[in-house]
Amino acid sequence: MRIDIVTIFPEMFEGVINNSILGRARREGLVEINLIDFRAYSNNKHNTVDDTPYGGGGGMVLKPEPIFSAVEELTGSVRAGTVEVEGGEAPATARPRVILTCPQGEVFSQAKALDFASEEHLVIIAGHYEGYDERIRQYLVTDEISIGDYVLTGGEIPAMVIVDSVTRLLPGVLGNDTSAVLDSFREGLLEYPHYTRPAEFRGWKVPDVLLSGHHGNVERWRRKESFRRTLVRRPDLLQGRELSKEDRKLLDEVMREENQTN
Ligand code: SAM
Repeated sequence: MRIDIVTIFPEMFEGVINNSILGRARREGLVEINLIDFRAYSNNKHNTVDDTPYGGGGGMVLKPEPIFSAVEELTGSVRAGTVEVEGGEAPATARPRVILTCPQGEVFSQAKALDFASEEHLVIIAGHYEGYDERIRQYLVTDEISIGDYVLTGGEIPAMVIVDSVTRLLPGVLGNDTSAVLDSFREGLLEYPHYTRPAEFRGWKVPDVLLSGHHGNVERWRRKESFRRTLVRRPDLLQGRELSKEDRKLLDEVMREENQTN
């Protein structure tokens, strides 16, 4: 997969993309991550990429020209999202996804990370200042993504969040390929609790079942604790969920136990 990050602060990304799992994935050629400074695409002698808003008011607005020029060079298209072809428009999926980081976008999720991980090429735009010229939203991007209901100073951290969560889903990136499968949200449930040595720490013991060596019982305990964690912390994730007979039984047990303790 290739990920292009369009930003005026490329140096902010160096630590994140050169270290740990992302650094190794890049060195092993499992992902290509490019940093593109869109200030280089400014069409004026002062290299400015922002301007005052039409209609007045505070804050600066990112101009369309530098971002359009940078993204179009990366996607090789005059207009990302759709392209005129004989007999109509080519499907948007034939084009790289162009992601705009903004607090007004769809709230990012594991499902969205999986969706992006199935692409071959992503372009992520990290914004700054008060906002973007609206034509960037309307005519250049395919996805608007927010990382939560709060406002940051810039789109660099959201871009890092997207790159990290997508890269770790790519084949071969995590040492143990099953670890991404069992992560929280992957199956719509929160992950079960983890324990490691020592078996007893300050009098607090690891649940017996985990020391039993009985694989089936360990799996059942983990599944049940996954339901407990989800029920207690994120009951919204269970709403409308179809359950197998075995899962229904586990969830009923958890509900009974939780009712007794409360
Ligand atoms: N005035 C804008 C608004 O109210 O929607 C906020 C602009 S914010 C100060 C500057 C930039 O930071 C945004 O353009 C976006 O790229 C990024 N940003 C801030 N909060 C974000 C969030 N929750 N998710 C994604 N990007 C965010």
